[in-house]
Order: sequence, then C-alpha cells, then structure tokens
Amino acid sequence: MLEPSTPVQYVKGIGPRIAEILATKGIATADDLLHYLPFRYEDRLNPRGIAELRAGEMATVIAEVRTSGLFRTRRMPIFQMTAGQGRARLKCIWFNAAYLKDKFQPGQMLALYGRVEESRGELQLVQPQFEFLGEAEGEAAEQKAAESLEIGRIVPIYESAGQGRLTSKWFRRTIRTALENLTPELPESIPAAVRQRLDLLPPREALWKVHWPEAGESFHHLQGSRTPAHIRLIFEELFFIELGLELKRREQKAQTGIEFELNDRVREAIKKILPFHPTGAQKRTLKEIAADMEKPYPMRRLLQGDVGSGKTLVAFEAAIIAIENGYQVALMAPTEILAQQHYFSARQILEPSGYRIVLLTGSLEQDRKREIRRHIAQGSAQLVIGTHALIEQKVEFEKLGLVIVDEQHRFGVLQRFKLMKKSGEVGDATSRRASLGRTGEGARPQMDNGTAEPDVLVMTATPIPRTLALTLYGDLDISVLDEMPPGRTPIVTRRVGDERADEVWQFVRKQVTAGHQAYVVYPVIGENEETELKAAMKMYGELSKKIFPNLNVAVLHGRMDPDLKEQVMRLFQQGKIQILVATTVIEVGVDVPNAAVMVIEHAERFGLAQLHQLRGRIGRGAAKSYCILMTSGKVSEEAERRLDAMVRTTDGFQIAELDLEMRGPGEFFGTRQAGMPSFQVANLIRDRDLLELARKEAAAVISGPNSEISQTEIDRALWQMRTRWQKTYGLVEVG
Ligand code: ADP
Ligand code: MG
Repeated sequence: MLEPSTPVQYVKGIGPRIAEILATKGIATADDLLHYLPFRYEDRLNPRGIAELRAGEMATVIAEVRTSGLFRTRRMPIFQMTAGQGRARLKCIWFNAAYLKDKFQPGQMLALYGRVEESRGELQLVQPQFEFLGEAEGEAAEQKAAESLEIGRIVPIYESAGQGRLTSKWFRRTIRTALENLTPELPESIPAAVRQRLDLLPPREALWKVHWPEAGESFHHLQGSRTPAHIRLIFEELFFIELGLELKRREQKAQTGIEFELNDRVREAIKKILPFHPTGAQKRTLKEIAADMEKPYPMRRLLQGDVGSGKTLVAFEAAIIAIENGYQVALMAPTEILAQQHYFSARQILEPSGYRIVLLTGSLEQDRKREIRRHIAQGSAQLVIGTHALIEQKVEFEKLGLVIVDEQHRFGVLQRFKLMKKSGEVGDATSRRASLGRTGEGARPQMDNGTAEPDVLVMTATPIPRTLALTLYGDLDISVLDEMPPGRTPIVTRRVGDERADEVWQFVRKQVTAGHQAYVVYPVIGENEETELKAAMKMYGELSKKIFPNLNVAVLHGRMDPDLKEQVMRLFQQGKIQILVATTVIEVGVDVPNAAVMVIEHAERFGLAQLHQLRGRIGRGAAKSYCILMTSGKVSEEAERRLDAMVRTTDGFQIAELDLEMRGPGEFFGTRQAGMPSFQVANLIRDRDLLELARKEAAAVISGPNSEISQTEIDRALWQMRTRWQKTYGLVEVG
C-alpha cells in the first residue's frame, strides 16, 4: 500500500529520472503527487451521435474506423481518419501527425473526444483524443468506454511537466494508479469539531473525487474549484497555515511587553510637533498603535500605506509616546538614502521639542560612529535612525522601547521572512535590549527573565490586499493608511502610441519651459538588459542632441558609477537638470517635487506594480502632474489591461488587486523565493473566502472550549501544521 510520505520515485510508473522532473513541480512524495490537482476538467461524458454534432462544441463520439491516411500539404503533414456510425461519417484530422501513420485499422472501434469544426460545409473533429475500444460494438463498446480514463467521463486535465514529457495523460494514469494503491488508512488531522461544522469530506474521498469526479458533479463547481472535494483540500492547507499564525499571535501576546502610558502630557507632546492636521486615517492608525502600546504585551503591528500616505508622521507620533515614557526608539530604513531622509524630517519635526536624534550610517567615520554608539548605549540618544543592517548588527541600547521598521518596498516582505527564518520571531533583531542581533541562528527571544520586549511597528508601502496581508503578515495586526494628505493634485495619466512621439516631446518641452522637470523612463528590465540598455542610451543621445538640444538632459541607469549617480540625482534635485532620462533605477526613493511630467516609453513592457511605483515619483508638488504611457507596436491584451488600469486609477490598493489577479501572487512579489508562501492546492486570490474561514476556525479551535478538541487531535493538528509550515514557508519553528 502506498503511504503519503513515500518518496515519489517509488510510486508505480515513476523512477529516479521522472522523479527529477516532478521535483521541478515541487512533487517529492506520493502525497505531493496526489495534491497535484487538475487545473481544469473536460466533460467527456455522453457519447454523441455524429448526426447531432454542432460546430464549435467539444464532443465525445464512439465510432468505427473506416479509412485513414497521411496527406502532405506544403506546410505540414496532416493525418486524416474517417470514422463511421452506420451510414454517418465523420472526418477527424491531426496536424503534424506522421506518427499516426499505421495506427488505425478499418473496423476498429474508437472513442474520440475533440472540438467539432466546420470546414467546407462539412463537420470534422480536430485533433481529437482517442482511445481504442477493441472490436466491441454497440453496448459492449459503451461498456468498454466507461472503463476508459480518457473518454465517457469527466476527465481531469493536468499541467504537463518536463517540457511536455509528462503529459496530462501521463498524470492521469499515474495519479489514478497511486490512488488505487493508496493506503485506506489516510490519517485525518482536521479536528472533528471543525470537520463537522463545515461538513468536510474525509481525506481519501476528497482526493479521489478531486481527480475523478463523479458523473453527477457540477461542472461549474469543478471549474471553480468549489466541489466538496476541492473545498476539503484547500481548506485543509489554509487551516494549518492559519493555525500556525494564530499560535504565533498567541505566543506574542503571552510575552511581557512595556505598558506605555498615554496621559495628557504625552498627548500634548504629540500635538506640539504636528506640522499639519493629520488625516483621518493618520488619526485612526495612531489610535490603534497607541492602544497596542498601552497593553502589557509587545506590539506587533503592520502600518500599511501607499507611497506618500504619510506614514512617517504616524511613526514619529508613536516614537514620542515611547520617548516620553523614558524609552529609546530605533527607526530602521532599507537604504542609507532613506535613513538620511528620515533623519532630516525627524530633525525638522522632533528637534524643536528637544528630542535627541542620531543618525547611524555606514559611511560615518569610525570615531563618529563610536561616539554615536556610546550615546545610544548611555541612553542620551532618544531616537536612533539607521539602516536595517546597521541597527540589527551591533548596537547596544540603554533602554529600547520601540522599533520601527520602514520597509518601503516589496523587497521588505522578503527581508522580514528572512528575519523570521533566523529567529522564528518578527523583528527579532529588536528583541533583546542591549544585545541586538546577538540572538544568533535559531535562537528564540528569552522572555522568562522579566525583561520586557520592545514594541515593533513595521511600515510597508506595498499595497498588499487584505487577504494576502492576513497570510503574509498573519502574525501582525494591521493598520491601513487609506487616505492621502490633502492638497495633492491628482496625476493625469494618458496613453499614446509612439507614432505621436513628436506631440509628446512638444508637450514635455512646454512643461519644462514653464519651469517643471521631467522624467523619461526606458525599460531595462533584466532579460535583455544589454540590448535594452543600448536602446535606452541611443534614445538618450537622440533626446539630448536632436529633440531637446537647448535643454539640460541627463541620463541615469543602474550600471553607472555610484558617485556619478548621486551627482546626477543631486543636480536633478537642484533643478539643474531639466529632463532625466532614466531606467527603472528611479523606482526607489527619489523625491523631487518639481518633477511634474513622466514619459514612460514602451509602457507595455512594464508590470503594473512597477508602473505604479514609477508614477509615484511625480505628483509630489503643487503643480498638476502628467504621466504619459507611450506604447510601441502591437500591445498584448494583458498589457492593454495594465495600461487601462493605470489610466483609470492611481489607487495603489486597486492596482495591487488587479495586478494580483492578472499575475498571481508568486509574480506579484517577485520570485517565489521572495518570501511568498507557495501553496500546494490553495490559490490566495481564488480562495480568499476559504482563507477567512480557515482563519476563523483556527482561532476557534485554539480558544474554543476544551471539550471541542482532544489532546490527540491537538497533537495531530500541530504535527500537521509544522509539516505544512516547513513546506510552505520553509520554516519549522512554529508554535
Ligand atoms: P510615506 O507614507 O510614503 O512615508 P511620507 O510620510 O513621506 O509618506 O509623507 C509624504 C508627504 O506628505 C510628506 O511630504 C509629508 O510631510 C506630507 N504629509 C504627511 N501627512 C500630511 C498631512 N496630514 N497633511 C499634509 N501633508 C502631509
Ligand atoms: Mg516613507
């Protein structure tokens, strides 16, 4: 009998070579193979009479071979076979199919499945699937067909693997055999109470039915992955992930935190620094953060807000709460430039109230660094700003109360997961007072010695849709800044074909003459970096010499020397460069309010998230801003949808949702390894409802009455959870 944990190479029909191919699909065990679900189904149920066929439909036909032969046209060999039912005849054709040459003998019975098309007034089956039914005829033939895996039933269609070496048909047969040999004692690890509440199928039955649906199954539910079998398997996967997250949340709440006091004096101190009226969203999120800070366990909160939504102010307000309570605050930025940016705004906003702020960057002189470290260790520095790397590694605080992690970009997701991986705890870098970063590999924060854990606030500019955030950041509470500060003039976005480039350049010239600055962005995105960069440089030459000979045009790209890059950026910031021709390097961290125009060439080649980030560089000043998406040649349907979305909205969340729908979560976050959990059967977009359900049930199981779940069930669920976490996140240290 086949056990779920059996390595897949020992499954019948698979050896070491095929196992290698399967490994590329993440299939290592029999269980993985059984969870390789069909991505769609074909209804090959009811055999049809030839006379009833209609052009355009998919149909199953049982018929007898009459004649067959190979025809060579000028373009390719076409194999043609005529099948008959009594006097009715049906032509079947296969393209490029010399291999079928001696396949059919007149008189053989066949089951055929394929698309019916009309050609010169005659119906034919194009590229049908077929299966021999031997010499049987009439009812016997139908009986034979019923035993077939290919015809006469709802047939599962699998994604092929190994460049087509393992076909859908191969998966059908192999998974079928695995199911037939599967141990009848498949363990059930979902607690009975949950199973009953949701009326879930037993695991074995779910696996059978998801691969081989019964004839009465709703086709609609099958295609939407919503049959009871699908629901059981998807829910199961999400349930154990959510169980792990829920346990993590509990564990965090069980730790000793700092009970910051939020009294009138602290409130006054906050009010004093405010340079403008906070937006409603800023007020609300601060309230959520402050409520966390007052609690006796450590805060673990995510502050999510699109670029420009005003996260910094909220962070500073939270910092004041900690400082006024006599604690120190660390603010970590992803890059030195952004750390510097924070430092300047902190000095503007916080220094007038007398708060002592230091900036700790890698480029400081050794002596200066040592001095700053001393201030931090002695507690005279109240707000410490630096890069992640710097603060994580070697800083000792006298009394650290709050850590603010500014992720800024999607790369942050990855970094946070690395952090988790290291220590099994978010922002563990921050966990021990006076010994940041010394926790070492795999060490867990100690929490039994009476020292309170600092609070952690993670800020991200990635507009992650809520359901995803619940999974990615499921161990954090979430606050959303969903309102922009007032006084922003919306960006006007247009798309034009490059045949109108002259008009575009004329518009740019007009804007620049009126005193604004402009970006012209070229795609240099990776795969064809070499040639793309060449094209961009050529265009730069043309723009600077021919199109704008009288304006100051400069170029900025990733291969440039860092010093030169900085110099160009400074000149642009000072307004001495009027038009900046750039590759996507400007995506991160550039803030020039006077830049009011952005032309994106070959806009059809950029991803949606990238276009959004790029556009975020303009619309930062008082002047009306324009984003011109220039396209070249034929634009694919998908690119069309991306451009449409850009023209329609500037809302990062809407764009993220769309992007996610179009590309799927793996792509959305860059590579799969970028910290995005890789699910076996669940799909975070399609299965949002089940994710919510799983979250609810996980919480219920943990906090529910003891009678609901037995110790054995708990143990089994925890074991299952660890296995799943290992698989999904590559982590074991959960719960
Ligand atoms: P982000 O969320 O991208 O970090 P910032 O905190 O840098 O955004 O804020 C973007 C800009 O908006 C800054 O120039 C900031 O001074 C300004 N800002 C923030 N909050 C408000 C507000 N309530 N009213 C007006 N301007 C604000
Ligand atoms: Mg910011």
